Amino acid sequence: MIYWDHAATTPPHKEVVETMAEVMNRHYGNPSALHRAGEDAGKLLKRAREVCAGTLEVEPSEIIFTSGATEGNNIAIKGAAMQYRTRGQHLITTTTEHPSVYECFKQLETLGWEVTYIPVNEDGVVNAQQLAEAVRKDTVLVSVMHVNNETGAVMPLAEIGSLIKTKNARTLFHVDGVQGFGKLPVLLKDWKTDLYTLSAHKFKGPKGAGILYVREGVTLFPLLAGGSQENGHRPGTENVASAVAVAKAMRMGQERQPLFYDKIGKLRNSLMNEIRSIPEFVLNSSEQGAPHIVHFSYPGLKPEVMVHTLEELGMLVSTKSACSSRNSEPSRVLTAMGKNKELASSGIRISLGWEHTEDDVIQLVNAIHQAVEKLRPLTVKRG
Ligand code: PMP
Repeated sequence: MIYWDHAATTPPHKEVVETMAEVMNRHYGNPSALHRAGEDAGKLLKRAREVCAGTLEVEPSEIIFTSGATEGNNIAIKGAAMQYRTRGQHLITTTTEHPSVYECFKQLETLGWEVTYIPVNEDGVVNAQQLAEAVRKDTVLVSVMHVNNETGAVMPLAEIGSLIKTKNARTLFHVDGVQGFGKLPVLLKDWKTDLYTLSAHKFKGPKGAGILYVREGVTLFPLLAGGSQENGHRPGTENVASAVAVAKAMRMGQERQPLFYDKIGKLRNSLMNEIRSIPEFVLNSSEQGAPHIVHFSYPGLKPEVMVHTLEELGMLVSTKSACSSRNSEPSRVLTAMGKNKELASSGIRISLGWEHTEDDVIQLVNAIHQAVEKLRPLTVKRG
């Protein structure tokens, strides 16, 4: 079996698993405790925070450990909206955000906030100028993802950040960075980012772990009430082993990012060319997309049939994003890109990781050709 679903989750680094086990076994103290075991765990947590901060070129006090990006996005978006509600109740996001962002805005709408959803072009990219035009005096927060999790579309964050701040210096800028970290350069200062979310399992760290960067000076209304851990943003006894593992994965991910871009980007380009040459397929990812995602539609065929056929041939791919792959609705992301219902209901995502080689891509392409041969008679003719 070859695993092609790295945008859903990645196999963890061996070093990450080993570190996590070691910290769990040997440094189990509660980092808030005053005795030696607590102090020992506290030191590890402090060091992990410093490593994460160093990786992003920010301060350790600006890093909050979370249970992943769903939590990070909720804390950032709802926390900012609630904290600054007297400043204004207008928020901006895009039509193609991950559900952990999109549904936060939907919830806030039901509670009285006004949300502007900025559309994307046919490549899935938002127009920075158009977004900035929507910023008003009462706009508290703008949230835009770095890389789209279905198509790999990359958003122009530097341009967006600078235009937003020119229009309203007090508007906060949140970036869901989940699919970009380790794949593309991350430049929080250049993007003028106030809040930035990561999920460790997308870059070979543990599942159920991530970080939220909260720029110094930004206050968030805490969604959870409790102790003062994580600056009060996230009360509860810290998961030290997980924090140390996140730090390890972040450091490794950041150090190897240029290599990932070159190595995996090359494999992605050759895979894209192959996909483009198959007349049955419609490519939904653009050349300018992230180096690890290739997304295409096979109109006339239920995507799960293709997924299962490829699985029989030893290839594990996915339909849309993992969180929504079990619902058969047309993809919101593809619909927002102007794709018709048929295309938006037949998407297949291949996402690459460190482990892949040229030979793997050749095997995948052969399997795809075999699958198409087999499935052609089953496809519903268009027109
Ligand atoms: N944002 C994006 C862009 C994602 O791809 C994901 C994971 N599918 C998330 C947020 C949620 O991350 P987590 O699994 O850590 O909750």
